[in-house]
Amino acid sequence: MLVEGAILDASGPRRAYVLLRRGRIVEVGTPGTDPTRGRVPKVRGIVVPSPVNSHVHLGDAVSTREPPAGPVAQIVAHRDGYKFRLLRESTAAQKRSAMRAALLRMAREGIGAAIDFREEGRAGVELLRDASRGTGVRVVALGRPLARPIDRDELRSVLRVADGIGLSSARDETDGTLAAVSRACRASGKRFALHASEAVRESPDEYLSARPDLLVHLAKATPDDLTAVRDARVPVAVCPRSNALFGRQPDLRTMERLGLCVLLGTDNAMFQAPSIWHELEFAYAATRLRGRPVSPEFLARAALVDPWRWIGEPGAAEIAPGTSARPLVLRLPPDAPAYQVVTRTTEHLIARLGPKRAAGRR
Ligand SMILES: [Zn+2]
Repeated sequence: MLVEGAILDASGPRRAYVLLRRGRIVEVGTPGTDPTRGRVPKVRGIVVPSPVNSHVHLGDAVSTREPPAGPVAQIVAHRDGYKFRLLRESTAAQKRSAMRAALLRMAREGIGAAIDFREEGRAGVELLRDASRGTGVRVVALGRPLARPIDRDELRSVLRVADGIGLSSARDETDGTLAAVSRACRASGKRFALHASEAVRESPDEYLSARPDLLVHLAKATPDDLTAVRDARVPVAVCPRSNALFGRQPDLRTMERLGLCVLLGTDNAMFQAPSIWHELEFAYAATRLRGRPVSPEFLARAALVDPWRWIGEPGAAEIAPGTSARPLVLRLPPDAPAYQVVTRTTEHLIARLGPKRAAGRR
């Protein structure tokens, strides 16, 4: 397939043609100069790397009813709240099939990878691995040890099957737990992530001193807090739709202005579908609604580029021959690629690159 139009990737938006064979990039060049002389089917559109959903709790997909109203702490954080009761009362088979259905939906929407906060200890991570087999979505599983105080053997055991640890928040844990988890992650070369300043502001000392690799939310962070996060070089995963349900928003405009590394995620699968396209569109509209617009290029990077750097595979965000990118072709006008991709993408605009791609993706 020959795509005439534009590329939007780690190097930004630009006009180009892209020659694809079996879902891989064969050649990239200036529009109108391709060597195919009409022998290859041609489409007009924008070629992007597969996006990453950088924060999701897929286990929550087992919830099929409208969650109760109330403070987020009561619904998703509290041990006896709606979420953890539901996880306890559901069977492993129910959770596996709910997570698998969510992952298959993500695959159809072209998602390349998902960074998941998987609760329920080592068994929870193993269930997610099992659910993701053959879906084509690369799962970065951040597990959560159950014992408090931390049981070192349990922590080691979770880290053997997980890509890292994702904790509830600094204020829900003791300094001892934060330090033990941080140390164990670092020692095993794995990632340590933490929710922070979601419903109430926490001081950056509380969450930065544990040296996390990723913070989630920062919806209540002040510009000074965000400056501290930037200076500590810690990326932030933001989830505007999830925050909106509880009447708050991350300050994306300040994050863009300060140059934070921002990743986009969809959060609890009980609240909304794990669709990064919906999240992008909402994020764009929400910043306008608040009179604090951000550039579409900033949002596009948060979905398509910066997460691949965090995962440790920057080449996956480069549309060029020989990279590990798994390109998506979006049938959109190529004139303002980031704006088009952020505000207009839906699943049915993804050009299918042939059956091999669907079946053979990782
Ligand atoms: Zn979360």
